[in-house]
Amino acid sequence: MSMAAVLERLRANVDKMKSVEYRHEQLRALLRCIDENVDRWTEALRKDLHKAKMECLVMEVNYTRNEVICHLNNLDEWTKPEYVKKELLQISDECYIQKEPLGVVLIIGAWNYPVQLVLCPLIAAISAGNCAIMKPSELSEATAALIEELLPKYVDKDCFAVINGGVKETTELLEQKFDHIMYTGNSNVGKIVMAAAAKHLTPVTLELGGKSPCYVDKNCDVEVAARRIAWGRFVNSGQTCIAPDYVLCPSENQERLLKGLQAALEEYFGKDPKESEDYCRIVNQRHFQRVKTMIEKTKGSIAIGGDSDEKDLYISPTVVKDVQPTDALMEGEIFGPVLPIVTAETADDAIRFINSRDKPLALYAFANDQKVIRDIVERTSSGAFCGNDTMMQMSLSTLPFGGVGTSGMGNYHGKFGFDTFSHKKAVMLKALAMEKMNGLRYPPYTDQKWSW
Ligand code: NAD
Repeated sequence: MSMAAVLERLRANVDKMKSVEYRHEQLRALLRCIDENVDRWTEALRKDLHKAKMECLVMEVNYTRNEVICHLNNLDEWTKPEYVKKELLQISDECYIQKEPLGVVLIIGAWNYPVQLVLCPLIAAISAGNCAIMKPSELSEATAALIEELLPKYVDKDCFAVINGGVKETTELLEQKFDHIMYTGNSNVGKIVMAAAAKHLTPVTLELGGKSPCYVDKNCDVEVAARRIAWGRFVNSGQTCIAPDYVLCPSENQERLLKGLQAALEEYFGKDPKESEDYCRIVNQRHFQRVKTMIEKTKGSIAIGGDSDEKDLYISPTVVKDVQPTDALMEGEIFGPVLPIVTAETADDAIRFINSRDKPLALYAFANDQKVIRDIVERTSSGAFCGNDTMMQMSLSTLPFGGVGTSGMGNYHGKFGFDTFSHKKAVMLKALAMEKMNGLRYPPYTDQKWSW
């Protein structure tokens, strides 16, 4: 079936999704799809990324499950008309905002968290009353195949479709006229998506990436910071959009931080991370070569790790010290298990450095003094900020998830996702009475009418 035909089939069924009860039904079906196939999800993720079962559960399966439950619990409230403040002229009118579905939306996912990056946007699209086409990433092949196999068994095939494929299929999809597109992935493709959407004036949400900095202040519990940074950077082998991409710290803290990182890595993955059941692999050869080249090109010195095995797509957790801002590791997003440490003697230096670069998706700062942390929040711009930890901001669905500037536009998670996929329609309901008063606004605009 052509992409146009799939879209046409869904478009013919948009009215079904207007029923809030039907949305509940579809969300409950999705919840069953998650719950009844836990082993299959975790097996697919193991195949694609060598993810440990616990990590699959926490960061993919249960994460997505919690998102469905959040929407099921709040949907009735979110869909209610939102009554607005009125003025004298509307005193007897009914004035409210009606949350209206957009129609048929396109969801393009990325490979690094291939379950949640397709299903969480879908959950939001359903709760806002939309039909949706999903295009999982072809790089996480096993998960993409599983989504295509399972979803039609649970959710309404007339309202939802999964299309698998790569650039060719996505390009063909992007030629169609959707009512919204949510894309997760790198910013080069983000520009392609936005340009394609512009042809139809289709609004987009772009969940992109970039280099997320992490400042470690002179006065800080460096050992705790090291543990939290090591987890954020090396979970999923560094292939996480909000992972701390590089550390900024005073030169006097570098050695202590390195010791802390070394200790944390040994605790998490043992003496040889290659043997660890809990350490992920790089998704494919292309990304393996990309990260390996970055390590080879660095002019900093490798303090931890630096090993790799191409056959196994393994790159050990690697920390590079004394990295200069012009280094290869500081050019683009690393998106792999490599952590450069760059010197910033003070919080002011770090702020200047951060502000001289693209606005990051996430920004982290560790300091004993909350004033230092608040100062960084106030004087920088980023999609999200987390003080004294990494990545934990995304554990709360009452916080929006999204970028700013080149790290993305729009956001989702919880109600933010519902809003993204809803149109806020302004509604004013007037009575046909009081026509005399209304008559004031009609021409001719005589002095007599307006003398008061
Ligand atoms: P990817 O290669 O899986 O690409 C993402 C999607 O774009 C896929 O579905 C793919 O088929 C499609 N695509 C690729 N090339 C295309 C083209 N030329 N035309 C149309 N569609 C195309 O994922 P990726 O881009 O390698 O993902 C990594 C990037 O995504 C990183 O920058 C990361 O930070 C970012 N990311 C962001 C988030 C977020 O929520 N902000 C989450 C995950 C990843």
